[in-house]
Amino acid sequence: MKTQQLFGCHVSIAGGIDKSVARAESLQLGAMQIFSKNASRWQSPPLDQEAVERFKNARSISSIGYIAVHDSYLINLASPDQQSWQRSVDAFSDEIERCMTLGIDDLVMHPGAHLGSGEAAGLKQISKAIDQARERSGDRVRILLETTAGQGTNLGWRFEHLAEIIADCRKGNLAVCFDSCHVFAAGYDLRSLNAVNTVLEEFEKQIGLDKLALFHLNDSKKGCGSRVDRHQLIGQGEIGEQGFHALLRDSRLTGIPKIIETPSGPEHRDDLLTLTLLRKLSREEI
Ligand SMILES: [Zn+2]
Ligand SMILES: [Zn+2]
Repeated sequence: MKTQQLFGCHVSIAGGIDKSVARAESLQLGAMQIFSKNASRWQSPPLDQEAVERFKNARSISSIGYIAVHDSYLINLASPDQQSWQRSVDAFSDEIERCMTLGIDDLVMHPGAHLGSGEAAGLKQISKAIDQARERSGDRVRILLETTAGQGTNLGWRFEHLAEIIADCRKGNLAVCFDSCHVFAAGYDLRSLNAVNTVLEEFEKQIGLDKLALFHLNDSKKGCGSRVDRHQLIGQGEIGEQGFHALLRDSRLTGIPKIIETPSGPEHRDDLLTLTLLRKLSREEI
């Protein structure tokens, strides 16, 4: 069995996007996720060309096997309001172009919140938005729809939502980022081997495991079906080690990069402990 998994965490781009590679290397990451701009602002200056070159050079000689960009939290492609929808499409298109500039193949995105217009209308807005962004920026970058916890009016908490978006978009190159905290909070039990198998069967039925491109591995502070998105360190939340052990030992999932997204402080102390735990769980029987 292949045991070499691509594990990583979200890494800061403070001080310049190229600095993220050295940070990831110092943590000996096999995979990393970054923002390509300030994720809580609409406007960001274009990427600095020299920093882009330094980023690409550093990456090419690094041992990092996988990089994804996560899009800005402000973007809401499901918005029923024409003006904010258009602003979101423009910002999303910019995110795609930044990935191309950086030579990054995958862009993780939150599908969006319908804000009261209803699920069906919201899902249509999302596929229309993805199509429009791709008319402009092309489909070279793969878009990873992230599973959500379903807080408020957020879409993407049912696998059916993601399947519908994928089916509705005109252009392909769409896949899914499976966030264990979100999926669990949305009501899919992940606490045991049996529960994990049932969820993966459901994913296969609704979306297809061939579309599972990335994992966000986070434990959950809140219970199954709570629809509340609160990440917890792996093994210390409601999912617990058994569930992660099942996900990590499933040979169908071995080759899929796995990124943790829990607050860790400037030295990444908790990330390092969690990564050690993930490596242990992926090797051992418990
Ligand atoms: Zn996530
Ligand atoms: Zn989350």
